[in-house]
Amino acid sequence: MAVAPLHRERGRLAGSPAARATGAGDEPMYDPLELAAETARAVVRGRERKYYRFRGARFYGGIATADCLGCCLRCAFCWAWKRVIDPAAAGRFHRPEEVASRIAAIAETKGFRQARLSGNEPTLGRDHLVGVLGALPTGLEFVLETNGILLGHDPSYAKELRGARDLHVRVSIKGCAPGEFSRLTGAEAEAYALPLRALENLLAAGVACHPAVMVSFSSAAAIEGLRQSLAAIDPAFEAFEEEELFSNPAIERRLRALERDGRH
Ligand code: SF4
Repeated sequence: MAVAPLHRERGRLAGSPAARATGAGDEPMYDPLELAAETARAVVRGRERKYYRFRGARFYGGIATADCLGCCLRCAFCWAWKRVIDPAAAGRFHRPEEVASRIAAIAETKGFRQARLSGNEPTLGRDHLVGVLGALPTGLEFVLETNGILLGHDPSYAKELRGARDLHVRVSIKGCAPGEFSRLTGAEAEAYALPLRALENLLAAGVACHPAVMVSFSSAAAIEGLRQSLAAIDPAFEAFEEEELFSNPAIERRLRALERDGRH
């Protein structure tokens, strides 16, 4: 089977059963839930999670940020691609209390009122994430930026977040339809439903949340279709946040590879 260069790169959790080609023809796909479990073995150790950076960031008007390692998607437009495909190559493990204390210290030094985990996917390592949320000082708003795969798969995860103070979850939806999601991420199209289910699970659990959508590759009709689906979950979601596409030469190369594969 011919495997396009982007797919080979996407599959670089070497020997990975989760990243193996599972589709027919030359369109290898992976199951993000399998990839989440496999990646967690590299970046989660008991209650510890691997991070590669702690910083103040300009987003949201200034936010203390801890950049974690490991993700269960392989978005062609990912700005953290090197970390995503090879999370074992960088960073070190931290306990939840240590992460909370470091981002709280950054917030205090810089005068920020918000904190977040970013970089890759913060929901890998559930005990770790719940531990970070529990260890943060009061008065610091926590923005959980997630691709929604794990929160959509398991409603009990959203319920467990209900107890966190000052939590807001931003669920990032990659594309406006299952086929587009699959082209952009290389994941099985069925997984597109999970971020939408994450929003439902969070709302049912009483956790504040909103959708952000990568619309840069979508037709007007696809955007409208997703808008209606989101409005059916919550009328407030009709005016969803549009996610910005950050570009750099590596991202452009990957997007050109998608075009060459006839996939976007
Ligand atoms: S979900 Fe985010 S971190 Fe993961 S590959 Fe996509 S853009 Fe990168």
